[in-house]
Amino acid sequence: MRSHPADYEMVSPGSLEAVLRLMNEDPGRWLPVAGATEVMVMFSAGKLGARRLVNLWGLSELREIREDAESLTLGGGCTFGQIRGNPAVLRHFPSLAQAASWTGSIANQNRATIAGNIANASPAADSPPALLAYDAELELVSARGRRCIPYRDFHLGYKRTALDQAELIRAVILKKHFDGYFSYGRKTGARNAQAISKVCMAGVGRMRGGKVDDVRIGMGAVAPTPLRLSGVEVLIRGEAVDDSRIRAARKALDAAIAPIDDIRSVAEYRRFVAGNLLEEFLRGLAASGEALLVVLARWNALPEMEAAEEILPCCGSQRWSQALVRMRPFVSAEELSVASDRVWWNLGHDDWEEAFRSHPRIGERKAPTAATKQSAVWSRQEQDGVYAQDAQILAEMVRRNEEYEARFGRVFLVCATGKSAAEMPGILRSRLGNDAEVELREAAEQQRQITQLRLRKWLGA
Ligand SMILES: Cc1cc2nc3c(=O)[nH]c(=O)nc-3n(C[C@H](O)[C@H](O)[C@H](O)COP(=O)(O)OP(=O)(O)OC[C@H]3O[C@@H](n4cnc5c(N)ncnc54)[C@H](O)[C@@H]3O)c2cc1C
Repeated sequence: MRSHPADYEMVSPGSLEAVLRLMNEDPGRWLPVAGATEVMVMFSAGKLGARRLVNLWGLSELREIREDAESLTLGGGCTFGQIRGNPAVLRHFPSLAQAASWTGSIANQNRATIAGNIANASPAADSPPALLAYDAELELVSARGRRCIPYRDFHLGYKRTALDQAELIRAVILKKHFDGYFSYGRKTGARNAQAISKVCMAGVGRMRGGKVDDVRIGMGAVAPTPLRLSGVEVLIRGEAVDDSRIRAARKALDAAIAPIDDIRSVAEYRRFVAGNLLEEFLRGLAASGEALLVVLARWNALPEMEAAEEILPCCGSQRWSQALVRMRPFVSAEELSVASDRVWWNLGHDDWEEAFRSHPRIGERKAPTAATKQSAVWSRQEQDGVYAQDAQILAEMVRRNEEYEARFGRVFLVCATGKSAAEMPGILRSRLGNDAEVELREAAEQQRQITQLRLRKWLGA
């Protein structure tokens, strides 16, 4: 039977502090409501037991996305719409961006929050496998204080969580440990949209010297809670991925999961699909390592001049490319990446400037000096989101570029991958406030990031 609104009371205290105070006065009596996409379904079905609801929607304290050098913090009230398009999520946690884009429909993503998805504790929810794979932490708050717990310790059993009655999920914290990792995500459902998963999975991993150096796997809809497949990971870590290892991994997975028959699928199908997803991930991971090793091995064997010429477009500084060539052979992408940073920070200012000149102005296509063909292609891809469509943004970008060049005597440089045209004037404005020394270091840091991304592209990782 449908519920009647008159039977319910809903309050909107307007700040996080006031919500927590209210929940603390009478623990367990107030049900927090964020996007209400779950709560409204319960209400409509006449199954919403709680009669007193406290509104979290629109609390600015829960909607922030903060990024620093080590981590990305997503406020619990961030919607999947916000998360799926966020440049930092896309860049550092692609499996989470992918999961956000699978949740319900676009309309649903505009209301559904990440904390609601987690707290609702459905084993079939879409974001948990990615959060497990990325070793997310949760920041929980109440009127009595705050605590952080690993997300993997949050689900205690079917629909049972570590959340106290007067506590809220304030934020999801993700450590940026996974740049350059192979990432995989897959949802199987009845349709591509508006379908709860029959099985979903996220996996991240990294190969080194033909073996799995690191791997983390999360799976949904195969047990009473979302699962981190630690036993499977142990079996794969440090090993080459071949047919017998894949068979062993599938067997370990089979023992770790306990799928059920329900309205969406049957246990037998879920078992079979879970094994297929795991295999697809492992084969992709192995292939990512092979492609990378083939490029590195070939480059290691090239004559010095050819090798320097080939790697030059990743950075643009001759001295950088020559130094790396002299440090060969490299056996892994990580070794090359660490060496690249070390060489870069030890170069002189002239070498930095040489690299900066190999980039076109932001929003334009031609570099101040003749860049290599490969560099021009990469610049175009990197600036894909930045080529301004809007005449007003374009005009401001041109004006700010000129101001920047007049002030610092060089082209404005920013790692544009994943950034939009609309963000550029703001970034330019804030960088124009730097003094010359700070700005030079900032431009060098941006170039370092560009180089790292290009090295991975070059290796095919
Ligand atoms: C049509 C439709 C399609 C859907 N498709 C999918 C799908 O494909 N994949 C998927 O994973 N989900 C899907 N969902 C489920 C739902 O949209 C998500 O679980 C959503 O993320 C819930 O967030 P919310 O903000 O709407 O939560 P609400 O409905 O507001 O709350 C859900 C639960 O979380 C609690 N809660 C909310 N915020 C907090 C907080 N900050 N701290 C502590 N507890 C909190 C509430 O008390 C409540 O128990 C779908 C739902 C609908 C209606």
